[in-house]
Amino acid sequence: MNAEPEHIAISKSKGIRIDWKDGHHSEYGLAYLRDECPCANCTGAHGTAPRKSSYSAPSGPFPMYTPRLKMTQVEPVGSYAIRIEWSDGHNTGIYSFDHFRKICPCEECRGVAKK
Ligand SMILES: [Zn+2]
Ligand SMILES: [Zn+2]
Repeated sequence: MNAEPEHIAISKSKGIRIDWKDGHHSEYGLAYLRDECPCANCTGAHGTAPRKSSYSAPSGPFPMYTPRLKMTQVEPVGSYAIRIEWSDGHNTGIYSFDHFRKICPCEECRGVAKK
């Protein structure tokens, strides 16, 4: 897939919105992006258990407790990705535009692009 963004709107307290060159629009909430972090730690590529969904789907004895999540820094990586630094200190996630496009949460993409 060749995913090229036409326009990227970043709100550190809300999330990221991308208008794609092919006319598609994607909106990503903060918790969703954090959960979809593609780095080795988060995906378990190093053999550690993936840590998933601690924000969007809190489970355990304190379901009301959700840390207030924000992006503290967002910077471009070349022309193919952006690196997001989170208020929880996590900063190794490099989100390529291919990744963004793949995790587009809209109904169309969720419905069609099921893995
Ligand atoms: Zn990560
Ligand atoms: Zn979509």
